[in-house]
Amino acid sequence: MSEKKFYYFDNNATTQVAPEVIEAMLPYLRDLWGNPSSAYKFANEIHKGVEKAREKVAALINADPKEVVFTSCGTESNNAAIHSALATQPNKRHLVTTAVEHSANINYGEYLQKQGYEVTYLPVDSEGLLDLKEVERAIRPDTAMVSVMYANNETGVVFPIKEIAAICKAKGVLCHTDAVQVPGKLKLDVRDLGVDFLSLSAHKLHAPKGVGMLYVKRRTKFQPYIIGGHQERGRRGGTENVASIIGFGRAAELAMERLQEENTRVRALRDRLENTILTTIPHTFRNGAREPRLPNTCNIAFDFVEAEAVLLLLDQVNICASSGSACTTGSLDPSHVLMAMGLSPMRARGSVRFSLGIYNTEEDVDYLLRHLPGIIKKLRDISPLNPDHPDNVNYDVEAARVKHEQDLAEAMSKES
Ligand SMILES: *Cc1c(COP(=O)(O)O)cnc(C)c1O
Repeated sequence: MSEKKFYYFDNNATTQVAPEVIEAMLPYLRDLWGNPSSAYKFANEIHKGVEKAREKVAALINADPKEVVFTSCGTESNNAAIHSALATQPNKRHLVTTAVEHSANINYGEYLQKQGYEVTYLPVDSEGLLDLKEVERAIRPDTAMVSVMYANNETGVVFPIKEIAAICKAKGVLCHTDAVQVPGKLKLDVRDLGVDFLSLSAHKLHAPKGVGMLYVKRRTKFQPYIIGGHQERGRRGGTENVASIIGFGRAAELAMERLQEENTRVRALRDRLENTILTTIPHTFRNGAREPRLPNTCNIAFDFVEAEAVLLLLDQVNICASSGSACTTGSLDPSHVLMAMGLSPMRARGSVRFSLGIYNTEEDVDYLLRHLPGIIKKLRDISPLNPDHPDNVNYDVEAARVKHEQDLAEAMSKES
């Protein structure tokens, strides 16, 4: 068995482009490079390819192809949905979202607040779950849209979007969901869900970066976010990213075919990884509800260590994982998702996300489980917080924890 170059456990950050997707794209890079909007036969063939891809992406979410708007990424899709809701209802200046959204929504919400809009960030409980009553209570007469993610990228926790969409419908409020983490992991059906808008991003489902889509339900008023040419039926200006759109279409087909495998084989790999960590490494905790949860995601708190140090040592043995936080390495900000769940800053900063995918094998998990316990032990042996350390008999863990958090708070206030 040859050693792999990398052991990749970061599929919620991005995914390997599937060989089948590359195959489908190549003709559109090499030969079919024309502008799909041009009038000659050469362009017509390319236009047909784009429309075929649109049908495939529409089939993935059970939409009509006319309801699919290709964008540049998941972030743009989220921004465009919220922007449209506010632009088409100028008298409604309130947005409801959650405290655990992707930064695409959190930071757009903060931007809107600076523009004078009001934003409600719904809280979650310690398991990362939403209370539907809170959703209902948050909606006001001036609420333009409720935007709630389908599945959390850090913990994998799944929100009850169908129920949220029903509440929105009863109150006459537009409903958007960021479903970027869902394709290939859970079945997606916009008709069954009843949402007005839904975002996807191709690079999270084994297609290239730089292409996304926004589902806009038929007859929903829409104000484009990118204003320009007549592409995408006037809903998104800019020449289509043809090859990547073709790849997105192929990836959508593969995601549907592989849904079963993700929920059996990949789920079993994730469960084995998670259960082994929790039962063999002391002072570890799962972050987020066990269910309902994506089958590929596992987020673990390792008390008395810094996640950044764990990731550095994992990287030395070519294992790719990430800390819950989307922030840059070295920043002292703990994950906003884990903080919203009420974790202490110390526990949030000791949390690591492992997100598996269709290309992970039993051997990958064995390899990770061979290296992880030693790495945690090594770091705990030098941690002033570790109650099991031989130098730390009679050691006041609680006092050390409080001091550690004070130090952190001080360092964070200096940083900002
Ligand atoms: C990755 C991700 C995004 C952003 O998608 P991009 O295509 O990278 O802009 C948005 N929401 C969630 C939940 C994500 O995981």
